[in-house]
Amino acid sequence: MALPALPEGGALDARSPITGGRLGGVTPATPADVDDAVGRAAEAFLHWRLEPAPKRGELVRRFGDLLRARKAEMAELVALEAGKIRSEALGEVQEMIDVCDFAVGLSRQLYGRTMATERPGHRMMEVWHPLGVCAVITSFNFPSAVWAWNAALALVCGDPVVWKPSEKAALTALACDALLHQAGAPPGMSQVVVGGPDVGERLVDHPAVALVSATGSTAMGRAVGPRVAARFGRSLLELGGNNAAIVAPSADLDQAVRGVVFAAAGTAGQRCTTLRRLIIHRSVHDELVDRLANAYQSLPVGNPLAAGTLVGPLIDRRAYDVFIDALATVDAVIGGERELAEQAPDAYYVRPALALMAEQTSLVLQETFAPILYVLAYDDWDEAVAMHNAAAHGLASSVFTSDLREAERFLSAAGSDCGIANVNVGPSGAEIGGAFGGEKETGGGRESGSDAWKAYMRRSTCTVNYSNELPLAQGVEFL
Ligand code: NAD
Repeated sequence: MALPALPEGGALDARSPITGGRLGGVTPATPADVDDAVGRAAEAFLHWRLEPAPKRGELVRRFGDLLRARKAEMAELVALEAGKIRSEALGEVQEMIDVCDFAVGLSRQLYGRTMATERPGHRMMEVWHPLGVCAVITSFNFPSAVWAWNAALALVCGDPVVWKPSEKAALTALACDALLHQAGAPPGMSQVVVGGPDVGERLVDHPAVALVSATGSTAMGRAVGPRVAARFGRSLLELGGNNAAIVAPSADLDQAVRGVVFAAAGTAGQRCTTLRRLIIHRSVHDELVDRLANAYQSLPVGNPLAAGTLVGPLIDRRAYDVFIDALATVDAVIGGERELAEQAPDAYYVRPALALMAEQTSLVLQETFAPILYVLAYDDWDEAVAMHNAAAHGLASSVFTSDLREAERFLSAAGSDCGIANVNVGPSGAEIGGAFGGEKETGGGRESGSDAWKAYMRRSTCTVNYSNELPLAQGVEFL
């Protein structure tokens, strides 16, 4: 496995999980660099907020066009840096293109409402204004799409973006930013500050940052959320998940096998929406486990850029250690072996694991960011839903069933407690049109489609009196 030689830069190593080798170096931002970037963004905001939103949308349209033209190269970079197989890397770039299209349409639909007022000769309405500088902090596993969800919306909403990408995926960030500048981003509207948590913290604490949109682990959100709140900033948190699927007796098992294997083993188990817990009705448990075991044993694991590979590497040694430690305590395991250790000794390829569990232990209830699917059995529906909702996270969920009542119950107020709830679709692989995010320890934020744009704007409730009188609300008499 050979890696391309990329230009040398600064002191922070950019590595590829494909071999564990060095791709190049990038220069980490100093605290002064972060302050300068925020200062430039605040300056840019003063002009950009006055551009009509459809004009702001034109920048995003041009960016989307460039992404279309450079889709294959961008996907290659995503594969090199994050280890995604080519088809998933292309999907990640397509997600950027899709959200650009969405944001362009949105630029003509930033609607406010007009409300009935109790006072004669008055009009009351809400107007949405640009919010200010947005800091976007992203995780390694979606090195470009998560930023694009934020940036495309923020730009049409009138906000400049300062991006702190994962220290494990800085090259993809620099490439995205270069394309956005090629599309005509004005100075200060899009900037990247490279580095680790310290660089993120500088952004989080900066009083001129109006919104901190942070994607990563719950531990990161636990640190970031209170710091932003302490200065009355706004935060949008997209944190971890411990996603489950229920397989009911009436499920189409062919569909369930495909949905489960993609959701659990895709991206080598390194998606926030990865399926981590499978709750199977006892009547179909053994059959489904047999079929999943066969599918798992035949999954092609290897170089993500090679044709036919479906499971690429883990991001690094730490991820491998976490995987091994978790498997050491499960009741029984199918798969889970290290692969290709001789050909790529500094890379970490593993066969995705099925861990058969008698009950939901504390280990099962925590997010292990690796391809381990914990398999559990249930006897009745209420028990299955209780097991499903027992996790501290609340991101994505699904049920495989052909029973309309079960499907509706799962989607009802008494069903899944997650931000994303699917029927006969695994929990991963969301489209950009819906609001993306989850409850509980997932952080409560929503990004991407639906009305997620409101997080990037401030709402002003405006009242106009066009009468010659001054009637007061609630009938109050004064003067
Ligand atoms: P991570 O928490 O280690 O890092 C995420 C980002 O936060 C990085 O850029 C990191 O430098 C930064 N960071 C860490 N501590 C910080 C601090 N105290 N202040 C400011 N910034 C800080 O996560 P990771 O390993 O890159 O990604 C995996 C995690 O991300 C998983 O838990 C996964 O579920 C989650 N994730 C969530 C979503 C979502 O939309 N909910 C999407 C992708 C990944």
